[in-house]
Amino acid sequence: MQGEETQGIPLQRAALLALFALSSALAALAAIVPSTDAALLLAKAAVLEPVAIRLEEALLPAPATYVREDRLQRGDTFQSLLARLAIGEADVQLLLRQRALQLLRPGAIVTAEVRAGTDHEGELVWLSFLAARDTAVRIERVGQGLVASEQRAQIVTRSVLKSAVIRSSLFAAADAAGIPDAVAIQLADVFGSDVDFHRELRQGDRFSVLYEMHWVDGRPLRAGSVLAAEFTNQGRRYRALRYADNYYTPDGKNMRKALLRSPLELSRVSSGFGMRMHPLHKAWRTHQGVDYAAPAGTRVRAVGNGTVEFAGRQGGYGNLVIVRHDSRVATFYAHLKAFGRGIRANARVAQGDTLGLVGQSGWATGPHLHYEFRVAGAARNPLSVPLPAGTPVARRDMDAFRASAQALAAQLDLLAGSQVAALGGGNGGTWVPLFLE
Ligand SMILES: [Zn+2]
Repeated sequence: MQGEETQGIPLQRAALLALFALSSALAALAAIVPSTDAALLLAKAAVLEPVAIRLEEALLPAPATYVREDRLQRGDTFQSLLARLAIGEADVQLLLRQRALQLLRPGAIVTAEVRAGTDHEGELVWLSFLAARDTAVRIERVGQGLVASEQRAQIVTRSVLKSAVIRSSLFAAADAAGIPDAVAIQLADVFGSDVDFHRELRQGDRFSVLYEMHWVDGRPLRAGSVLAAEFTNQGRRYRALRYADNYYTPDGKNMRKALLRSPLELSRVSSGFGMRMHPLHKAWRTHQGVDYAAPAGTRVRAVGNGTVEFAGRQGGYGNLVIVRHDSRVATFYAHLKAFGRGIRANARVAQGDTLGLVGQSGWATGPHLHYEFRVAGAARNPLSVPLPAGTPVARRDMDAFRASAQALAAQLDLLAGSQVAALGGGNGGTWVPLFLE
């Protein structure tokens, strides 16, 4: 009994110290304010920072070196960053003379091992950071001097599976699930022929996505490609599986159709249910087009391949681009602020090319895109026009496609069965339909 008691005390102390270390590490995490996508991801990664133990009964000997990490902030100086890393003044001066330090860019995390103790306080052992083009830079102590070396960073790619329910916008849902913007934009692109992400998104819509994530030194660096995804929009479920750089439905149909649903580029500012405006026209019948409220300057893209039939000013339309897709189908883009590069009559355009920027030229009370879809000269509601599909998986590739698709779909199923139910999806809640102007 007595033996157990005496052993109990150090154990309690160790637990206390562990708690102390943990709370300090959490405080360090909280101090990081994510500014970009990468920053957001990085902020979620663990920050290595051995904590100095100042308790008198410290059980562990003081470490001989400390590893610290800090980020070069915008407007930061190298000097202040190096000081935050607790690098001594003598080594700061040596480092500032290193040309390799000039490769450091705002946002980059610098890791440094610095010696502790009265004799060598603040002496740099090594320092490293990731520079442009995935170059790992390392500056190391050799004798009294510092030597820099560069090498290609060791990038590890893993796939990540996540799901989210849409409450206000695609980007907000992605944020809540810790999904990078680059993945949200790919999702909008993959499903862009089936779903108009500006007008058709509803609260309760949900998605699961399997995507590549590239890591360096155990930290997420950036997102890669979406490998598979499922999107449920207003109760309709769409699935996309990547194969040979394209996306297909599980039965091999091409996800990309001849025309995109939305002529507006999806971005953080142009997305969401809040993007509505005062209606100029009350009904489809009187108006013959669809108005997309969007901030001035948002990119307007060609919904399909074609030829520019007209690019110039035309009465109430203001700056107008007309793209002819074939002998019957033409699309109109009005109220533009500016035309895209090379957009003039007879120019060829490909799906996704920038035709111009959202503005309010002509009869418009605020910045918005007026979009018309005409078939044989008659305006049609673009949301209800069936679109011809792109090339499906070739017959000879079908076996390979099926094998790959099944493996990807199985991963999506895993999530669809568990997490989405837990997130409380469904079509409840209130939503406001976007105006047809
Ligand atoms: Zn309009």
